[in-house]
This record gives sequence, structure tokens and C-alpha cells, in this order.
Amino acid sequence: MRWSYKVARVAGIDVKIHVTFLLVLAYFGAIYWRQGGLAGAVEGVGFTLLLFLCVLLHEFGHAFAARLYGIRTPDITLLPIGGVARLERMPDKPVQEFVVAIAGPAVNVVIALGLLAFLATKVRMSDITELDQGGLLESLLAMNVMLVAFNAIPAFPMDGGRVLRALLAMVMDHTKATLIAARVGQVLAVGFAVWSFSGGPTMLLFIAFFVFAGAQQELAYARFRSGGGSRRVSDVMFSGYSSIPTETPIAHALALAKASRQGVFPIVDHQLRAIGIVSVQSLEKAMADGFGGHPADDLAQPVARIQGNALLTAAMATIPPRVPVVVENPSGQIVGLLAVQG
Ligand SMILES: [Zn+2]
Repeated sequence: MRWSYKVARVAGIDVKIHVTFLLVLAYFGAIYWRQGGLAGAVEGVGFTLLLFLCVLLHEFGHAFAARLYGIRTPDITLLPIGGVARLERMPDKPVQEFVVAIAGPAVNVVIALGLLAFLATKVRMSDITELDQGGLLESLLAMNVMLVAFNAIPAFPMDGGRVLRALLAMVMDHTKATLIAARVGQVLAVGFAVWSFSGGPTMLLFIAFFVFAGAQQELAYARFRSGGGSRRVSDVMFSGYSSIPTETPIAHALALAKASRQGVFPIVDHQLRAIGIVSVQSLEKAMADGFGGHPADDLAQPVARIQGNALLTAAMATIPPRVPVVVENPSGQIVGLLAVQG
């Protein structure tokens, strides 16, 4: 993520902070300063830092759960809206997705229970009037409970959305599970918006937008995965093509071309590397113009080359329009053609 800076490395995971996070810290510091002077500012910033430590531990929960399945997490970034653990890939098995999704909020449950237990002993040991109702630990306990509640909403991009999708994917295919989970999220988003407009908290409107966008993004990703996303060039290439050996006279090449139904033919050298491509029309025209004895190489047009093992969507993006495409193996030999337009 741009504007993110590494501040630590824990268990092989880079911890990064987005610059806007520092702005939020400064903002809270300023607000507390106005209320309680320097001591207030220190306490405010301290509380914000502790809160984000809980968010960071939540993200480490996801990262360590993913590690159980051999999935690395290169970095965790703290943003003002929360943390993002960038997993190398998403787990494929529903059970694994369930465990990775639930591991984050589980950390906050543990923190909350720990704080609760600590505060309970404090109450028992001291006079009840000494318990500071608005104290730091009480606030931190409340924030951890809120983090768990927020992530329990069964909507993307919250962890609850992933838990719901994982549960659905145990009894149906992944794309359908994503579709249903995303629709549930969108219905909730509309519900939050209506609630907010009819006198509910303004915060709900923000969450509604957040959830609606999360559902759209998850749907797009699921379509990408089920569509061309995971297909490779070699899955869709035409491998039963005919080719014309280099130095073949145009008359002979035209005879070869007429015997096949292809519109274009790669010209290949002795190592089976494509040196260009000729069309039937250009062979016919050269023949009619009396160049039947010339090598077909003279008519070769340049080609675009892509690797057979490349991902289709990524490879297609690199191809200039209206240029014939040959598919090659890693040693540069032609292994197929892609359908050519124009
Ligand atoms: Zn989470």
C-alpha cells in the first residue's frame, strides 16, 4: 500500500503504518489536549495506541491462523479504519477460510475476557467507589467487545461475511456461496441505511456504504475466480494448427494453406520458433502477382508472443490489438495459436 511505512517486523511479518494513521493519532491528541491539557493528550494518544494494538493483535490472529495452512502474510498495515493483513492468497477450503476469519475476532474475545478478569479482581480487592467508570481499561474492554460485535455482522468485508461464506461453501460451490453471502451483506447495508435515515446513528450510514462496497468487491473477485481468472493461455489456445516451414516457396505454402481451414499460418524455423505469420489472402495475392517462387518468409507479418503457462486475463492485457498471437513454451518454441480478430 502506498504511503505505508514499516515500523516493525514480528514473526516474519512486516508491520506497516499508513501515514493517515499518524494524522488520526494527532487529531485525537489535539481533542484530548483541549479537554484535559497535556495529561489528557497523553492519555488520549495512549488509549488510541492501545486500541490499535488490539487491532494489530486481531490481524496477527488472522495471519497466524493462515500460517497453519502454509499461507504467508508478508505484511499487516494499520489504517485509521482498522488493520489489513495482506495474505499471500486466500484459503481455498471452506474450513480453512472459516478458521482464518474467526481467528481475528477470537483474539479480541481473549483480550476482553482477560481485561474483564483483571477488572473483576480489582473490584474485589479495592473499595467499589475507587473503580473508575470511565477508566482506560474499561474503555479498552468496551472497544474489544465492539470490535467483536462489528466483525460478527455477517457481511463483507467484515470477518462475519467470510465466516458466513465459509459456512455456505461447505454445502455448495464457492461462487454460489459468495453470491449468497454478498446478497445478505447488501440487504443488511440497505437496512442500516434505512435505520440511519429514520433516526438511527449516523455511523450506520457509513457502515452501510462500507458493507455495500465490500459485497460488490467480493462478487467481482468470485466472478474473476470462476471465470477467466484461473485459466491459463494453454487452456484456450488452438494447438491443432498447421505451420509453414521457413524458406517454403509461396506456391507450395499456398497449396498447404488451401488444404487446411486456417486463415493464418505461422512460419517456423528449424527450432520450431515462430518467425512471423502469413495470411491466406497475402499468399494468394503474391501468387497472382507472380511471386510463387519466392519464399513465404517475405510475406511474414510480426506476431505477439505469450507464454502458454501465463494466466489468460493477465496475458491478454499485454497483447496489442489486431496482432496475431503465437503461444510459446519457455524455450521459445511455438505450441499454439490464439484466435485472431481482424
Ligand atoms: Zn478481522
